[in-house]
Amino acid sequence: MPLDPDVDAVIAALDEVGVDFSVPRPSLVDFLGNAEFTPYPALAEALLRALKDRGLRLPVFIDVIVFNYEHSPGNPSPRRVEDVDGAVLEAAVIEGFNNRHGEQNTTFQSLLRPLDTPVPVQTLGLSIEGSSIVKDGVTLVDTDNPRVEVTTKLIDVSTMAGMVSQGLLRQGNGWRFTNGDVELSVSGGEAEAGPRPATAGSLSEGAKAWPTVEGTFSSGSELGLQARIRVGYRPVDVKLLVEGPKGFAANTAERARIALDPEVLLVPVEVAKFFSDQSPVSKITMAGQMALWDQVPIMSPTTNFRSVDGGTGELRSAERAWDFWPTPDAKGLYGHGGWLSPDSIWGKAKVRFRLVNYIEIKTDNQQTAPVAIGEGSNPRFLKANHEALLNHPQHLDNVLKVIFMHRIHSQESPHTGRALIGSSCVGLSASGSTFADIAHEIGHLIIGSEGHSTLPDNVLLDPGGTEITDGQAQSAREWAQQFAGFWQH
Ligand SMILES: [Zn+2]
Repeated sequence: MPLDPDVDAVIAALDEVGVDFSVPRPSLVDFLGNAEFTPYPALAEALLRALKDRGLRLPVFIDVIVFNYEHSPGNPSPRRVEDVDGAVLEAAVIEGFNNRHGEQNTTFQSLLRPLDTPVPVQTLGLSIEGSSIVKDGVTLVDTDNPRVEVTTKLIDVSTMAGMVSQGLLRQGNGWRFTNGDVELSVSGGEAEAGPRPATAGSLSEGAKAWPTVEGTFSSGSELGLQARIRVGYRPVDVKLLVEGPKGFAANTAERARIALDPEVLLVPVEVAKFFSDQSPVSKITMAGQMALWDQVPIMSPTTNFRSVDGGTGELRSAERAWDFWPTPDAKGLYGHGGWLSPDSIWGKAKVRFRLVNYIEIKTDNQQTAPVAIGEGSNPRFLKANHEALLNHPQHLDNVLKVIFMHRIHSQESPHTGRALIGSSCVGLSASGSTFADIAHEIGHLIIGSEGHSTLPDNVLLDPGGTEITDGQAQSAREWAQQFAGFWQH
């Protein structure tokens, strides 16, 4: 017997409104495909019409409904939906409902889902960037900042004015959700939630989720929703939460558990910006550094609104836009502010970086934009800032220190980045350094020398490219081991 996609859709639609079956599925498919000799197609259509706004609160078998209908006075057996008697159908459903669930309902209304219970959210699919294997129910990822995509359908939700459809419109980097809102809840993990860098930060209690593609979506339409999260070695629980005007809808899907693959060595990063009144180094911001090191998207408060009805308190809409949503380039590399993410280069060695601290230190102009004669190649201003950082009350031990200055050397010097070998510290000119420079200077720490590579596109070429050798990968893993203690509590 060929599969009839229309019949499958009818069975799925019936299931949505609480009508299931106790006969073997092939028999039901047979019945529903046969309008000439069975009442199933007509009664199924009538049930869908009667229940489309509010399904049954508990399921009733369609074969029982048909049986009850056909055994009502006069033994009706309609072949067309127009011939279905609404009152007889309701009575057939009530009887089937009461028999199955041991209740004594006398009205059809009392079988329906309460108005304030929306149809549960369905999670139809889930994909996690960088996922390698599933172990003990935990999806291990090779990136600490995966993009998570959930496929779902928007639902009908209740309001004071009755059931309404949810709607979602995405244009460019902005989106508007009507009659609700959506987020990816993240719980468990290593730290309290929050968008700020934290010692062991996993992000965030409610990661903003938005459509993967531009377009307009309404109840029943299938769509992909994406969010970016941060994960560490301890699993986080991730689940899609869809909010209606009156609150969150149930999502009966299992939470996804995600953790960083223990093979990946995570290097904690402390960024310190040295600035002065004359040289504010305004290119360096906490949000920008979160985006660079951890692919955390940026949203300014001016493009993040929720509109609530003043009279009823019901959520009407949420309207947002990203200032920056990290996307990989054609080679799969992430970046921000003109720099490549060091993860995108050293991640090939399963070494990744996590911003755990961000400090802004006001200093004099000479310490952020040196003007000096006879400085040579000795980065003495950078070294002095490194000393100041070590003595700063917010400084953390056992981290990779990354110092940004307006420029790390005086104007005469060609250097826009330097590694302080042996000090786990690199310095970068906020003006002038670009592309792979940060990963390049980290590379000098990794190999423990100021020597350069001659291989094409190698990160230790001067200026650096995006490739690493097997030997550099091995050195990177050995170097990164020194930070392992940072993550142990
Ligand atoms: Zn170099």
